[in-house]
This record gives sequence, structure tokens and C-alpha cells, in this order.
Amino acid sequence: MGVLPQPSASSESLVLRIWPCGETSVIASLLTQDHGYVKVIAKAARRPNSRLRALVEPGRLVSAEFSLDPSRELQYLRGGSVEKDPLGPGSTLEDSAFLQGALELVDRCRPHGGGSDDQDDHDPTAELFAICDAFIRVLSSRSCPHPDLAFFVFEWELLVSHGMAPEVAGCTACGLPPAEVSELTMWFSPAEGGLICGDCSRGDGVSSGKPLSLDALQIFESMAERQLDLADDIPFERPLRREIGAHLHNFLGYHLPGYRLPAALELLRARKDPNR
Ligand SMILES: [Zn+2]
Repeated sequence: MGVLPQPSASSESLVLRIWPCGETSVIASLLTQDHGYVKVIAKAARRPNSRLRALVEPGRLVSAEFSLDPSRELQYLRGGSVEKDPLGPGSTLEDSAFLQGALELVDRCRPHGGGSDDQDDHDPTAELFAICDAFIRVLSSRSCPHPDLAFFVFEWELLVSHGMAPEVAGCTACGLPPAEVSELTMWFSPAEGGLICGDCSRGDGVSSGKPLSLDALQIFESMAERQLDLADDIPFERPLRREIGAHLHNFLGYHLPGYRLPAALELLRARKDPNR
């Protein structure tokens, strides 16, 4: 009796979540570059010498080989290799918290649709994979001085991929350019979709959001222009970090269904600000 060739695939993948299964196996949820979300079972991956063991650690970028049988909900993980491990030697508690936060967001805010059935080859899961891939690579390079900033870029890109990029090229209500807005009090408003000038924030029916500092505006501008070099040790002190984090948190909460502050970041915030 011959063995039929099994349909299979090989794809760059991000390990999102894992669950133990049976005595020694692991089920892993993957976000793959080429096949969207795929759930795999890694047989005997909890045995010490399993070659699959290293491939099912959450947060790792792996090149994975798995079965691709459309009639099955669970595919078999067959092998592969680790591409990036953001929690390798030299990583910090902070790296771990931002990584967990990102994985949680990706798991919760899944794009609708998926596959590539529509116009202009827009594949939301492939785009999401690219955003995750960039974030994990930055986090894995120990030369990144600001994992927090890398995470904020990740959040910004998440908004962009959902068609919710914050508008920072001028007041969203009256169109006043940033240079002139910044002479007034500036606001950042999720309901208005971004930057808003002091005059407009006082107008009728405008939800004004929260005050925006010039430093925060500059960071947002470089995010919008994809000009932020995360290897640069730009000054990023705690008040600015808190401001940026709060603005993005409000914006995500307003625009992304299913969003809430990731538990890992809640912990980090509690640890950093005991007197809050
Ligand atoms: Zn205005």
C-alpha cells in the first residue's frame, strides 16, 4: 500500500498562544505569513528532546512546516526552525510585557475576512503578519533602546491596518497646519480622528479628547511618516511615554472593536507607578 503525499505548507509564522494537549503534546495558534491564522498540534513537543519544542514558544518567529488539510481544523506541525526569539539572552521584563501585550492585541483584534479573495490583493492577515514581524525583529535586536516605543509603533501600525490611522497633518476639524495648531493648545481626539486645535476643541459638538504636547505630536508625526528610527536613542522620558501610551490606548479603545488594555501592560504600569 502506497503512502499518499500529504498536503503541506511552509511559512514564516508568529506563535501567538499555546495550550498543553494530552500528556506531552502542545496546540499552538500561529499567525502565518501565507496562510492566515493556523492552529497546529505539535506532537510530543513537551518531551525534553523534542525538535518541535523550540517552535512552540509564544512570541517566537519561526519558519514552520505544517500539514494543510482544509478538512481539518487542527494541522500537524512537522518541523521548522526558529528565526527570532525576542525573549532570548539579554531580554528584560519590559521586553516580555510588551511582547505579551502585542500578542494579546493580535489575538483579540483579528482582521475580518482574511484570505485574498478581494480587490487589489489586500490580505489583512498578511499585513498584520508584516506588522508583527517588524515588531518582533526590533524587539529581538538587543540594540533597541526603547521597547516601549517599538510597541507604540506596533499599535500605530495596527490602527493603520484597520484603516484608522490617526490624522496628525493638521487640525482634523478646520485643517489648520500643525505649525499653527501648536501655537494654540493642542488636543488629540479619538472621536475626531486625531489632532485638533484649541479653537475647534471648544466648538459645539466636538469631542475634545486630551491635551497633546509638542513632543508627543512630533513622535506621532514621525510614526505617520514612518520616519522613526528605533535603533536611535532618542529621548523618551516617562511622562512622554505615559502620554503617548494613554493617547494610543484611548484611540485604540475608541476605534478597534474588542480592544482593551493588555493585561501584561496593566502589570507593567502597576509595577512602574506604585503611587498612581
Ligand atoms: Zn481646528
